[in-house]
Amino acid sequence: MSKLMISVSGIRGVVGDGLSPEVIVNFAQAFGTYLGSGRVVVGRDSRVTGPMVKHAVYAGLMAAGCDVVEIGVCPTPTVQMAVELLKARAGIAITASHNPIEWNALKLIDTTGLFLDELQGKKVLKLVEDRAIQHVNWERVGKVEMFDGAIEHHLQSILKLSVIDPKLIASRKFKVVVDCVHGAGGTILPALLERLGCDVIFINKEPTGLFPRPPEPLPENLTELCTRMKAVKADIGFAVDPDVDRLAIVSEEGKPLGEEYTLALAVNFILQKKQGPVVVNASVSQAVEEIASRYDAEVIRTKVGEIFVAQKMRDVAAAIGGEGNGGVILSELHLGRDALLAIALTLQQLAESGLTISRLHQALPQYFQSKNKIQIGEFPVATILEKLLEKHKKEKLDQTDGLKFLWPDRWVQIRPSNTEPILRVYSEARSPDEANALGFKFVKEIERIMKIS
Ligand code: MG
Repeated sequence: MSKLMISVSGIRGVVGDGLSPEVIVNFAQAFGTYLGSGRVVVGRDSRVTGPMVKHAVYAGLMAAGCDVVEIGVCPTPTVQMAVELLKARAGIAITASHNPIEWNALKLIDTTGLFLDELQGKKVLKLVEDRAIQHVNWERVGKVEMFDGAIEHHLQSILKLSVIDPKLIASRKFKVVVDCVHGAGGTILPALLERLGCDVIFINKEPTGLFPRPPEPLPENLTELCTRMKAVKADIGFAVDPDVDRLAIVSEEGKPLGEEYTLALAVNFILQKKQGPVVVNASVSQAVEEIASRYDAEVIRTKVGEIFVAQKMRDVAAAIGGEGNGGVILSELHLGRDALLAIALTLQQLAESGLTISRLHQALPQYFQSKNKIQIGEFPVATILEKLLEKHKKEKLDQTDGLKFLWPDRWVQIRPSNTEPILRVYSEARSPDEANALGFKFVKEIERIMKIS
């Protein structure tokens, strides 16, 4: 499989094996052509390949006649919010998010601060494919300016939120352990937690980009954080991914709650204060429906992907929304996933309730997910989905994204990947064993379909 993927959601690849300066310049110049002109805010995570990618991005944008506003190493939500603040034409976040160290990528941001949607992405992609790229003459080649206020703006925006009381949080003097995995978190989380009066112990703080473990904040990758939590008797532990849009929480007992519960906790908290629908993607835990029903709030599901959730939140004036991988979105702040937001909401909830994080977690409906994937190669996805539909036609069905069969206390979702020849099989139930068994049953069914067809 090629380690370069160019799609409507941007460009992603392995440096030295596909993601070359030529490819990046070409893509950035196509984006600059799509924009026509104007200022483009560019920020990046801490990856060691970031400076190389950055210079290629600048060359492409400037050659197409766009100016660059450089904001440095920072979280992806900081880039999105800087686009809004500076009323820029667009933005680019240079980050491969939770992908391993050898990867890098460009995430394209619209003038609204939201990621490009499918239609906009297709237009950029067509310019790349047609090589219909604008080369401006010397007079119109873009300039680079620096802006060093993006991180401060992000911090202020969090501390000003109507639901956050920094003084109350500070009065509790929480002891917090934070794992930044040497990503962009180290550029902003120390200031956030200091202003919230926390006693903080950082691990992997410096934004060197040298990830000491797989950078995705999954429970199995958080052993160092869990061990440290127990050793120092902290109130709560936080882990962020390299571009700081996802948050995982570890309890005072040193147990990861699972990323689904970052969003579930936030939803439970916000619905006590705000009215309005909750928007989540089709893979998010059913716990969110049960929580929302306690507050008579409606839950609206979208396809998987931040842009789908963000657009729907805008359309329905949602109270809160997000994705189950620890991505919380609050309309009042900005329509994008933000780990700083999730940290502030969690600390506020601890401060107001006076309860421990494990007590808050236990008060929520308990569900467990099992995530599997199947390599399907050239086998037609449509055939698999048709046969599954036929076999399970009596079950309750949701087709928001792939196929999702639902029972009162469990569900299974079969969803083709947009970028790889795989089918994702996610299942959820009241216990890990039941979730695993349900997922395994469907994996076996799909393997059987592929064998006999
Ligand atoms: Mg990320």
